[in-house]
Amino acid sequence: MKRLDGKELAKQRREQLKSQVAKFSQIHGRPPCLAVVLVGEDPASQVYVRNKLKACADVGFRSVEKRLPQDISQKELQTQVGMLNDDRDIDGILVQLPLPQHLQADLVLAQISPLKDADGLDPENLGLLMTGNKRVAPCTPSGVIELLKANGVELQGQHAVVVGRSQIVGKPMAQLLIDEDATVTLCHSHSKPLSHWTQQADIVVVAAGRPQFLGQKDFKKGAVVVDVGIHRMENGKLCGDVNPEGLEDWLGALSPVPGGVGPMTITMLLENTLGLARLHQERNSQ
Ligand code: NDP
Repeated sequence: MKRLDGKELAKQRREQLKSQVAKFSQIHGRPPCLAVVLVGEDPASQVYVRNKLKACADVGFRSVEKRLPQDISQKELQTQVGMLNDDRDIDGILVQLPLPQHLQADLVLAQISPLKDADGLDPENLGLLMTGNKRVAPCTPSGVIELLKANGVELQGQHAVVVGRSQIVGKPMAQLLIDEDATVTLCHSHSKPLSHWTQQADIVVVAAGRPQFLGQKDFKKGAVVVDVGIHRMENGKLCGDVNPEGLEDWLGALSPVPGGVGPMTITMLLENTLGLARLHQERNSQ
């Protein structure tokens, strides 16, 4: 079984980014800039934000961290996002999810200017993706596509099954696979029995948020499986949605957790931000 190593691929892509960022900074007299909004004190979100800020610094981006209190109102949060939209020095904005329960994430995401939407989750950008005019795509599914392509996995004409239909992973994942000429089946919690679909797939992308809930019996021999899920087990170790037991001699390829999709997600965030920064410079010079 081949290991779809996202950590190594992310390292290579970030090296390439470094030189692209240096070139951008030389031409425009400033580096690209990403603003990251963190609401509240959720420990996991704090770690994710720290990693994203570090990744920005590593490739030469400027970043702005906006920490907001847990009890911020919907209106105030949207005002803060609006201020980042108006700041000409900021190219990309990311609001770390999940937000505290009293806040409506979809309204906050819709508040981000589509031209600063580093996560690719704004309704306009999702609409452009659906209509074949991609501007920025959601980071996790585009990271999955890059991981598959870099490992030489054929997508055209293959049957791909996506497990999960969330706005940030499953739905855009299905669209990106369709764009690669795969035949796509999208499964969710009402797809019964789930294994009926996954067992037929050449490629399975699992993003259900259920620790190790799919295993050998759910996949056909030689299938390529991308595990998007990420969970902390009682022993403190991380695991995915797929149970790796017995898969070594069964699958064609599997992405590990950790070290598979996660590093690619952050890399795609950086690539999206650089793309938006280039777009801003083009628009400003018109
Ligand atoms: P959501 O909870 O938003 O969506 C989960 C989806 O899985 C839903 O569509 C749900 O169906 C479906 N589902 C749940 N249980 C089953 C089941 N038993 N059979 C079939 N489908 C099922 O999760 P996300 O998409 O946000 O994230 C999924 C996982 O990926 C999580 O573990 C998350 O932590 C991880 N993740 C990892 C990232 C990374 O960079 N590595 C980035 C983003 C997420 P229904 O719609 O019917 O409820």
